Amino acid sequence: MGYERELLRNVKGYVPGEQPEGGRIIKLNTNENPYPPSPKVIETLRNLDPGALRRYPDPMSARLRALVAERHGFAGPEWIIAGNGMDELLAMALRTFVDPGADVLAMYPTYSLYEVLCKLHGAAIRYVELDEDFGLPKAFFNTPAELCFLTRPNAPTGLSCTRDEAARLCEGFPGVVVIDEAYADFADDHCMDFPQRFPNVLVMRTFSKSFSLAGMRIGIAAGHPELIASLLKTKDSYNMDACSQAAGIAAMEDYAHMEANAARVKASREQLRAGLLEIGFSVAPSQSNFLLARWDGQPPAKTLFEGLREKGVLVRFFDTPRLDNALRITVGAENECDALLDGLRALLGK
Ligand code: PMP
Repeated sequence: MGYERELLRNVKGYVPGEQPEGGRIIKLNTNENPYPPSPKVIETLRNLDPGALRRYPDPMSARLRALVAERHGFAGPEWIIAGNGMDELLAMALRTFVDPGADVLAMYPTYSLYEVLCKLHGAAIRYVELDEDFGLPKAFFNTPAELCFLTRPNAPTGLSCTRDEAARLCEGFPGVVVIDEAYADFADDHCMDFPQRFPNVLVMRTFSKSFSLAGMRIGIAAGHPELIASLLKTKDSYNMDACSQAAGIAAMEDYAHMEANAARVKASREQLRAGLLEIGFSVAPSQSNFLLARWDGQPPAKTLFEGLREKGVLVRFFDTPRLDNALRITVGAENECDALLDGLRALLGK
């Protein structure tokens, strides 16, 4: 009909992994956690005071921010902002720190939402391609931009650059560095100490993966109070609904539950990797709750993806350069990983 803004005409919109309804599907395509969230979260939601729904929620998510600050060793909530999923915080970072038309740096391949958000914002994404082993090349350290997405661990590779590399980037970068730590709870290390070392760094986390709360939409960012104050200007007035705030608070109060689940996922990850290697995939060790399984044999990866789908096992296939010979497989519960391996063996006649 031609009413759309010109800017949108070349934007396709983000394509999320499938969310099938019902059925007996083994869902290893969107990096969700196979285990339930803390029973304290469930109890909190069950006991939610109806009055909390009648009234507006706390616009500042004060209690949740205070708990996150305390957990990660920040002086107070002024170092933290909460968002309606980390995706909202990513968009807010662009709105807050990037002028329309300016450059945004990201590695390639990485989380494909960044590019969509940049296009929507009218910013130009400048990709620096990762090297053959998906490591950060030199060029990443000397490409100026107003904002940089440093995804650590990266998706969909599952790999992290070293903390030293991350620090070198933050030190030399002229703009804001957003360290995307969506998967950090499954990794050997993290950069949550960086905001206190670098005034230009935001570290973002999500409750969607390690806390098993993708359905609630909760994300947080940590950064120097000046950065956080700027972000607060661009948030929706009530960006965290009452249920999300209550669930987030309960989840923070039962941190050990998340840590135990993350440990379980990490153990299954190593088993799944061993199984995939045995079948003949190339699988780099992962720092996240998924594996990028490269397959250069026959039939091609896309056919395996489709064959698994027919068997009721969903994984992710990216029909894009560098990734079209691979499957990204979320680490599920043990029986789900077994079903995936059985499916692959059947498809490959092994
Ligand atoms: N960053 C990365 C790298 C992700 O994979 C995701 C989830 N798809 C997010 C951020 C966003 O997480 P959420 O919006 O669910 O909090």
